[in-house]
Amino acid sequence: MTPQRVYYFDHNATTPVAPQVLEAMLPFLTGRWANPSSSYTIGREVAAEVESARAKVAEMIGADPGEIVFTSCGTESNNAALSSALISQPGKRHVLMTAVEHSANIKYGEALSKRGCAVTYLPVDSDGLLDLGLLERSIRPDTAIVSVMWANNETGVVFPVEEIASICRAKGVLFHTDAVQAAGKVWIDVRTAGVDFLSLSAHKLYAPKGIGLLYIRSGAPFEPFIVGGHQENGRRGGTENVAHIAGFGRAAELALGSFEDDNRRIRNLRDQLEAGILRKIPNTALNGAKEPRLPNTSNLAFEGLEADAILIALDQAGICASSGSACKSGSIEPSHVLSAMGMSVARARSSIRFSLGRETSPGDVEYVLSQLPKTISKLRFLSGGERLP
Ligand code: PLP
Repeated sequence: MTPQRVYYFDHNATTPVAPQVLEAMLPFLTGRWANPSSSYTIGREVAAEVESARAKVAEMIGADPGEIVFTSCGTESNNAALSSALISQPGKRHVLMTAVEHSANIKYGEALSKRGCAVTYLPVDSDGLLDLGLLERSIRPDTAIVSVMWANNETGVVFPVEEIASICRAKGVLFHTDAVQAAGKVWIDVRTAGVDFLSLSAHKLYAPKGIGLLYIRSGAPFEPFIVGGHQENGRRGGTENVAHIAGFGRAAELALGSFEDDNRRIRNLRDQLEAGILRKIPNTALNGAKEPRLPNTSNLAFEGLEADAILIALDQAGICASSGSACKSGSIEPSHVLSAMGMSVARARSSIRFSLGRETSPGDVEYVLSQLPKTISKLRFLSGGERLP
């Protein structure tokens, strides 16, 4: 059987590993397998490669290499930032985050509540945007940390990180941002942004799954989340995942090198796809603010339908899309992000996210625009909502 061609529109779930990234990783899975903590020559050589990768990821976000701690994923980075703020400030037991954070933050907040911490989840408006006055008023004397994502993974809505950081600084509260979806898609400069902690995950950046980082501003208090060896300057125990770290470094270099071109091209294609869908298919609507938004993301509601049915039909046509956060697919729960935006259960459950990437071509967009209208028409007909032409 000839494998069906895949039209991949789910880059916010994960990205393919770039060939140059794989190439950068392979030496550390074959000949150069030494432990970077070993004092003999081959160990020291591998340690130098880890430092070279650290310098590359640091450059991508305008940080000093010493401010980067490699972790296993974005989830660990988020957990580590929140956990550290609570441990390093024992008198402070309150955490403030938004109701639209990724489950990597929301679920950790729930775990912290069970351990006696107070967690506030800030509401958003129907565009998915925050009221910064409310954020400021919600900071309490016992607030240990404020955590607001740089960009939302489901809608692509971008938050005003610089303004939030400045509110937190004025209030003397630590600020963490989950920039997992922002990396490579919006310009990140940790100095201009003024953040204390920032999380990234390599698999959203054309590198493999299972490697992330936490930026820790020089001078910010930090208590390790994973305690063990002296690795990462005593800030994260565990032998370094050298091959993945090398891949992450190369991915950062590539992202920086093609940032403008990639994003201009991807934004054009996303806009064509979105405009085409809204024009060709009646009773569809965009979820979340049109701007400020990630250039690759479009979250659309298809009135009267269930996202799962649309996704199955698209899958049969070789199109990969998603009904929200990757961790939620397969579940029939409405997205917590769309629900927090005040959407009805029916609209939230009718919504699909298309997320484009570096290898998306104009032909891929045309293909979706040729398949989706008839798919939606057929599903609406089957659900009794519309006549087939
Ligand atoms: N934060 C955001 C905004 C995400 O989109 C994701 C993954 O989808 C994560 C955190 C979790 O990252 P990881 O899969 O590396 O744990």
